[in-house]
Amino acid sequence: MFPFLKPTLIYNDDVTKVHIDELKKLNINGLILDLDNTIMAPKTARLDLPVKYWLEVMKQNFKIVVLTNNKKAFYLEAVRQVLELPVIGFAKKPWSVGIKEALEILNLPNDNIAIIGDRPLTDIWLGQRYGFKTILVRALTAHIEPKWKYFLRKLEWSFVKKQ
Ligand SMILES: [Mg+2]
Repeated sequence: MFPFLKPTLIYNDDVTKVHIDELKKLNINGLILDLDNTIMAPKTARLDLPVKYWLEVMKQNFKIVVLTNNKKAFYLEAVRQVLELPVIGFAKKPWSVGIKEALEILNLPNDNIAIIGDRPLTDIWLGQRYGFKTILVRALTAHIEPKWKYFLRKLEWSFVKKQ
């Protein structure tokens, strides 16, 4: 497989290790965050404490929107309440369905935006096409997933060019 995805930064750890200074160095002023497995375990609508603290710091330094392919309106509303952030659902990443709304909210040049997510073929591919900085992180629940999911993830990471 040809590795056509080249994330700006790759973390072999979850989102909480993404450091503010590294984002500032890249002239990033706005963040598009993936939801499931990037900032929350799927179907929980709950923030783990480390992620909660990380988000608090990020909120003080960046404009943030959450962009998710999740289609459950009721769940998305619960997530909005928990995060206190704009949450755009039905995004159909890697396609462009939700991105227009995200860009309207952020109102920043694409070059000053970073997309952070755990999925190369959705989050990173989308970000790369739009000229965002792209930050690939490890899934929050990777350590408790069944084996078949692990293999799918490995397969997906084979599209990623290591720096
Ligand atoms: Mg995800």
